[in-house]
Amino acid sequence: MSSDPNCIFCKLIAGQIPSRKVYEDDELYAFHDIHPHAPVHFLIVPKAHIPSLAQATEAHQALLGRILVLAPKLALEQGCNPYPHGGFRVVVNTGDEGGQEVHHLHVHVMGGPRPWAKG
Ligand code: 5GP
Ligand code: ZN
Repeated sequence: MSSDPNCIFCKLIAGQIPSRKVYEDDELYAFHDIHPHAPVHFLIVPKAHIPSLAQATEAHQALLGRILVLAPKLALEQGCNPYPHGGFRVVVNTGDEGGQEVHHLHVHVMGGPRPWAKG
């Protein structure tokens, strides 16, 4: 599986940087964001180093689908209220103009009672 020795999320997945784990399987890792913007705010990442959604190919279709199917399950487990009055937001910042700071593909899942912090 591809890994970048300079990537903070690769180090985090490898356990070289501590994180608060939400979920893990062979392909995916999920952990709480260190600077949450909402009462529930975690990230789902592929374990393989993919820099961003801009590098996604047909080979990643199943992986990306798994992330989106996992998101609502983990959101409820982490304390988001149920749809439709609860719910959550899914964000994939991509590239500098997309607001991406960490260049390892990650899906933000944010939820919980409003108001949330700005950001
Ligand atoms: P981006 O702006 O790239 O979409 O979001 C990167 C996110 O990663 C930010 O929300 C930031 O708080 C989070 N983050 C950056 N470094 C770390 C870290 O070392 N640990 C954790 N848990 N989150 C991090
Ligand atoms: Zn990485």
